[in-house]
Amino acid sequence: MPGFRVHITGSSIVGLGYGAAAWYVGDMHPMTCTLGAGLCAVAGMMPDLDSGPGIPLRESVAFAAAVVPMMMLHRLQQTGMPLEAIILCGAAMYLAIRFGLSWLLKNYSYHRGMFHSLPASAIAGQVTFLAFAAEEPLRRYFVSSAVVLGFLTHLVLDEIWSVKLGMFGPKFKKSFGTALKFHGPVLWPNLVTYVLALALGALAAGDAAWTEKLATVKRQMEQAARPYQQYPFQQWQYRR
Ligand SMILES: [Zn+2]
Repeated sequence: MPGFRVHITGSSIVGLGYGAAAWYVGDMHPMTCTLGAGLCAVAGMMPDLDSGPGIPLRESVAFAAAVVPMMMLHRLQQTGMPLEAIILCGAAMYLAIRFGLSWLLKNYSYHRGMFHSLPASAIAGQVTFLAFAAEEPLRRYFVSSAVVLGFLTHLVLDEIWSVKLGMFGPKFKKSFGTALKFHGPVLWPNLVTYVLALALGALAAGDAAWTEKLATVKRQMEQAARPYQQYPFQQWQYRR
């Protein structure tokens, strides 16, 4: 099993390549590219959240607890909440991730379970898509794909490390095939994972359609307002 250092190195290299390509070829804003590269690097540690209590779990969960509310900020602003409510929501999210999620992970996940699977990488991408509510669809897809890419990098590295080159060709360790998989041997984690993936998929699709509609309305309003902007701006004359 590759260690923490192998994973973070691998996903950082892939993330850098991904961000650089989007900047160079796709003409993406450098800030979005940097966020994508960073998220890809961090997502490369995500599947090993199932490796039991320890420093990696504690640090990763603490990091997620800080970053997720920040990513949700725009989404919360879109709901029209007052600042106080946004702060309270951020604090509630921090507590839910820091304590709720780590409790769930410590008690209900086992190593190389459904956390190491292809549907889990889809879930990670969908959650990012829902949290990162940028107006332009391309930016949203880019950022959520970065998380999926980092996650997949981890799974691929796990699989590569389970093959050993011996004297008589490659030897497969017992862990081979337990990372890049569609389902595990136990029924209920499979069920939970697939139900979650489907539900989040439906939510994300609905949200994408809604955001697109909102963007169209905004564009139409801008177009409608354009002819009037050409006239010199007149100040309102108030009668006393
Ligand atoms: Zn792993």
